[in-house]
Amino acid sequence: MKIIIHGGFFSESDQSTDTKIAKQTSLKSIVEKSFEFLKSNSSYDTVAYAVSLLENNDLFNAGIGSQIQSDGVIRMSAAIMDGTSQKLSGVINIENVKNPIFVAKALEKEDDRVLGDSGAKNYATKHGFVDFSTEIPQRRSEYNSKLKTGGKGTVGAVAIDKNGKLAVATSTGGKGFEIPGRISDSATVAGNYANQFCAVSCTGVGEDIVSNATAAKIVTRVTDGMTLKNAFEKTFEELKQIDGFAGAIGIDKNANVYHFDSYPTMVFASYDGEKFIIFE
Ligand code: ASP
Repeated sequence: MKIIIHGGFFSESDQSTDTKIAKQTSLKSIVEKSFEFLKSNSSYDTVAYAVSLLENNDLFNAGIGSQIQSDGVIRMSAAIMDGTSQKLSGVINIENVKNPIFVAKALEKEDDRVLGDSGAKNYATKHGFVDFSTEIPQRRSEYNSKLKTGGKGTVGAVAIDKNGKLAVATSTGGKGFEIPGRISDSATVAGNYANQFCAVSCTGVGEDIVSNATAAKIVTRVTDGMTLKNAFEKTFEELKQIDGFAGAIGIDKNANVYHFDSYPTMVFASYDGEKFIIFE
């Protein structure tokens, strides 16, 4: 059993030491709680749980604390994928729900598993997800002062459970200041992908992650026999050729855990019941 989570990039608007410590502390506590949960639950349920805790924490750009788009509206995206069933389900540009990841998870049982915009929100309402504003004052003041540096945040979790099953979940408030209608990588196979060999979640500039097909490439390379580390390194070498800005976390079927970023610094934490590894 192992779990690794990320909270996007540290290049958020507030890069103070206090924020850094707060992020390290939050990630440690969330990864520990999630590992506890993993002891008696599947990796699939655990990644949703871990991402919901990250969404509930306004230090991270997903759920509460999401970025605001150029027209002043928050639109969030999230996806979850079970490595065993290989079903990805997700929501794109959903508004006014507390936990987009739970709406994404609810869609797993549907034939139409990825819904966007009002379709996603209507589905959520129909299935009992109440209206919830995820806006916090800090994001509104960043928006009002047109502080475009706020982006580069997303949250994600990858886990392997006691049965060796892998799963991944990812959730984002986007880059901030997007043209309404812009699609994030987080609910695509470039940003969130798993099979029985490997599972990967990404953060960074969605356009770069999609252009590089990052998560799907890493997973495919591991499936075809490459080590997790080599698959990450080759894929990030390719990302470098387009000067891509991204980070990713992953676990393979042998419970190897890896993370990589093309620019400093992705914030992450992993735990295996004995040892925490936390970004510095
Ligand atoms: N990947 C997210 C997006 O482009 C944002 C991020 O991770 O910073 O929408």
